Amino acid sequence: MTIRLVLLGRQGSGKGTQGARLATLYAIAHISTGEMLRNAIKHATPVGKAVKEIIDSGGLVNDELMASLVQGRLGESDARTHGYLLDGFPRTLPQALSLDDIARARPINIVVDLEVPRELVIERLSARRAAEHRADDSPEAVERRLALYDEQTAPLIAHYRKKGVLAVVDGVGTPDEVFARLTSAIVTATGITAPGGDGRTTR
Ligand code: AMP
Repeated sequence: MTIRLVLLGRQGSGKGTQGARLATLYAIAHISTGEMLRNAIKHATPVGKAVKEIIDSGGLVNDELMASLVQGRLGESDARTHGYLLDGFPRTLPQALSLDDIARARPINIVVDLEVPRELVIERLSARRAAEHRADDSPEAVERRLALYDEQTAPLIAHYRKKGVLAVVDGVGTPDEVFARLTSAIVTATGITAPGGDGRTTR
């Protein structure tokens, strides 16, 4: 069995950092749609040019474009063979329905909701703005992104709970504490232990 995981959580919940660590541990593809789009902007591709303004203002790129980007990426051999962790997609109900279709043959086996209160993510994002100078970490863009998360993305929690694949993980704590909670949620939901994790073999 391979891991096909969706990581949900507010901007600034630690999704990016924890996602990268989990992907390394389980040797699965780390697919961050925000990262894909920022790369497209950096290389001034047609997609990059089309989405730059939307991203800088903290808006959401349209569902059709996102679904086709993700469909292409999930079709690549690393994701097909070894599994993947999706970070930043789906973000709307239409995207979640597209993903249900895209992944029909090899369904998502766990969706983790990494929970961090709003006040704490605002603190973390203003620290990141100082360090990384991201246009979309400006106070106005952060406000918009968090509002869109509550409106558009939070409803996905119910969608995945209904499907029986949801695990809620407390994202408050040190990075190591949160990481330990994540790996334990993954073993509970999928039966898959990290390679070398506790001596059990990976299925
Ligand atoms: P992230 O790094 O995941 O916070 O993504 C940065 C920005 O990229 C978001 O604020 C959106 O503008 C855009 N983006 C990333 N993923 C998606 C998605 N699944 N749907 C729409 N927009 C997205």
